[in-house]
Amino acid sequence: MTSKRIAVVENILSANDQLAEENRRRLDDAGVFALNVMASPGAGKTSLIEQTVQRLAGQLRVGVIEGDLATSIDAERAEAAGAVSVQINTGGNCHLEAPMVRDALAQLPLNDLDLLIVENVGNLVCPAGWKLGTHLNVLVASVPEGADKPYKYPGMYNGVDILVVNKIDLLPYVTFDMDFFKRGVEILNPGVTTFPVSCRTGDGLEAWLAWVQDSVAAYRQPS
Ligand code: MG
Ligand code: ZN
Repeated sequence: MTSKRIAVVENILSANDQLAEENRRRLDDAGVFALNVMASPGAGKTSLIEQTVQRLAGQLRVGVIEGDLATSIDAERAEAAGAVSVQINTGGNCHLEAPMVRDALAQLPLNDLDLLIVENVGNLVCPAGWKLGTHLNVLVASVPEGADKPYKYPGMYNGVDILVVNKIDLLPYVTFDMDFFKRGVEILNPGVTTFPVSCRTGDGLEAWLAWVQDSVAAYRQPS
């Protein structure tokens, strides 16, 4: 019985992976570089997206796919910041899957975009296990969550390409042992590119934005 159950899960995952590959092909055909942004609820995914869209206005055309259990609040924020956005309501599902992204891609003017940012459902457990077809995974950590999160959610920290540490303006007011945090990250994901930022004050955003622009440029003209 156990082996049958495992086989079913593997089939679902491989069906997802195939659709993720199709999503990737659509993005590559249109020349759109895509990021999958993951975090716990409240870490500041939408704030980072807002700042990115606003500050790169006139330089990059950005599309946003917002994944949430319910509401279109985040898609409205992304639109207000200047992005073309699509809201996916997962109806209780705690992570995005490739078919949801495929449906959202169909509603976006991909040929008119340079960058696509997918905001995954706020959750540090399973989103990293589901391929969407995006090019890189970005994890947004935040200071008020506490420094122990790499140790408690190794699957998430282990699998990401880029780490953004948001709300650094709160460091003087909360207990957050940055060395302990960094040691945990280093064990799971040695040398991962990290951007300490505050979306509220703007601190550190220049380095993040430069990375985004460089990544889009490198994607366009592979060396
Ligand atoms: Mg959000
Ligand atoms: Zn999930």
